[in-house]
Amino acid sequence: MAQPGAIDKRAYAEERRRLIGQIEAEARDTRSWTGRARFSDRVMAALARVPRHAFVPPEDISVAYLNRPLAIGHGQTISQPYIVAVMTDLLDLAATDRVLEIGSGCGYQTAILAEVAGRVYSIEVIEDLATRARRRLAELGYANVEVRTGDGFQGWPEEAPFDAVMVTAAPSRLPGVLADQLKAGGRMVVPVGRPRATQTLVLGVKQADGTLKTKKTLPVAFVPMVKGAEKKP
Ligand code: SAH
Repeated sequence: MAQPGAIDKRAYAEERRRLIGQIEAEARDTRSWTGRARFSDRVMAALARVPRHAFVPPEDISVAYLNRPLAIGHGQTISQPYIVAVMTDLLDLAATDRVLEIGSGCGYQTAILAEVAGRVYSIEVIEDLATRARRRLAELGYANVEVRTGDGFQGWPEEAPFDAVMVTAAPSRLPGVLADQLKAGGRMVVPVGRPRATQTLVLGVKQADGTLKTKKTLPVAFVPMVKGAEKKP
């Protein structure tokens, strides 16, 4: 018998299938920006599996599988599923990869990364969101995820270097500290640009000489990446 408040992971399978079809169509339409007409089977399988309805506010469950962002409180959002798909796909993750994510929010993208990669280290600056994301991911059985409250601009030096870095809030320029925490050959995706303007999703690939080769992909709209609270001495 289902526990009161327990998440039914299998519910809404039909809605998820419909969403997958919409993401596939949008991938074809945005090919000239991303260079990819379709996303990998592993990424699409993760989107078909993760119950997005468990990550949205209860009053929004009926619209959880629309291909659009939704508000999650604290002025923050859950990203549009197509954006989650394209950002995950651009990282070309292997099943053993260790990934740093900045901006856990509700934890939906974290769950997708946890399905596709080996281990996910996620940093969220708003403590209440971090606590709720941690609890939800644990309830859904993701044991390969760590969520920490903190300032993503610092990265997670104790666990660096990472195979991949994903930033899901927009800094005005690509944070060098995060590029430093990437392995040679590693990939990062970051929406770069001014707040309240359209940003550009930048893909960076770390070269053998330690430099980051970057490429602009598609226009995106993210909440700003904010400086974390100053640490008290
Ligand atoms: N990844 C989420 C979307 C997150 S919205 C998803 O799955 O839908 C962006 C998040 O980044 C917000 O929760 C915001 O609080 C957080 N954020 C903003 N600046 C940050 C910083 N410096 N460090 C860590 N998190 C930050």
